[in-house]
Amino acid sequence: MRIDKVLSNLGYGSRKDVKKLLKDGAVKVNNETVKDAKHHVDPENDSITLNGEEIHYREFIYLMMNKPPGVISATEDNRDETVIDLLEIEDQVFEPFPVGRLDKDTEGLLLITNDGQLSHKLLSPKKHVPKTYFSVIEGEVTEKDIEAFKKGVTLDDGYETKPGDLVIIKSGLTSDIELTITEGKFHQVKRMFEAVGKRVIYLKRLSMGPLKLDETLELGEYRELTDEEVEMLQ
Ligand code: URA
Repeated sequence: MRIDKVLSNLGYGSRKDVKKLLKDGAVKVNNETVKDAKHHVDPENDSITLNGEEIHYREFIYLMMNKPPGVISATEDNRDETVIDLLEIEDQVFEPFPVGRLDKDTEGLLLITNDGQLSHKLLSPKKHVPKTYFSVIEGEVTEKDIEAFKKGVTLDDGYETKPGDLVIIKSGLTSDIELTITEGKFHQVKRMFEAVGKRVIYLKRLSMGPLKLDETLELGEYRELTDEEVEMLQ
C-alpha cells in the first residue's frame, strides 16, 4: 500500500497534508527516511515512524460504546447527533458503523466497527445471537409474563416472536427485569411488553452474544475491545 494512503487512512491528514509530512522528512520506513508519497510499504510488517513515533496500522476497529439516550444509532442523521459523531476523529477515519440499532432513548452496549463480516454474523437472523436487556416496566411483571415470553408472544403486526428469557429482579408499581432475546425486530423489547399489556419506561442493553457492557463506561463513553473480546466474537 502507498505510504501516503496508509498515513491518511490512519487519520494523519489528507493526502496533501501527508505529502507535506513526507517532504519534510518526518516519516521513516524501516529506519530510512521516505519522501516519496508513492513509496510502497507493507503496513502490517514494516516499521513506520512519524516524527520518531511508531505507527500501528490495522484494517479494523472495534469499539464498545455505552450509548447515551438522545443519540441515533446510525452513521448520519439530518436532525440528531449520531453515535459516530461521539467518536474521536482518529476513530472516525476508519469509517465505522454501529452493529444494529438501539432506539434513540435506549442506552447501553453498542458495538461500533468497520468489520462488515463480523457485523453481518452478529446480526444474521440465522445465528440467533442472544441479546440481554435490563428494563424498567410500568406495573407489575408476573410469572404469567415469564410463561408468555417463554412461549413467544404475538407482536402488533402479527409476528410471533421466538422465546424470550424473562427474569424478574423486582416487581411492584414498577418492575425491574432482564430479558434475553435472540432476534432483533424493530422495537422488539418494547413491543413484546406491549403484547402483554405493559410499557417499557427504561431500556438498556447489557450484552450481545459473549460481549458484555463494560459498566465502567459512562454514558457516551467508549473504548476499544480487548483482543480477547474481539476473538470471542469471531
Ligand atoms: N428493543 C427495543 O424495543 N428497543 C431497542 O432499542 C432495542 C431492543
